[in-house]
Amino acid sequence: MTTMAGYLENKSDMIVHHLATIIPNCEIYYAKKEDKTCFVPDMLEEAIKEKFTPYLQCCK
Ligand SMILES: [Zn+2]
Repeated sequence: MTTMAGYLENKSDMIVHHLATIIPNCEIYYAKKEDKTCFVPDMLEEAIKEKFTPYLQCCK
């Protein structure tokens, strides 16, 4: 996992989380390490293009 990442994808539920506005009990914390992935470019548009759904509580 890259420390520079702005967004983190959870491959098990196809939801993308925004690390800058992440909530304390965000479900990404409970995701398995192998399910969490970063992407390039690090933009919400890219995640949506990859069929990920923004998690509204952290993607504002
Ligand atoms: Zn989240």
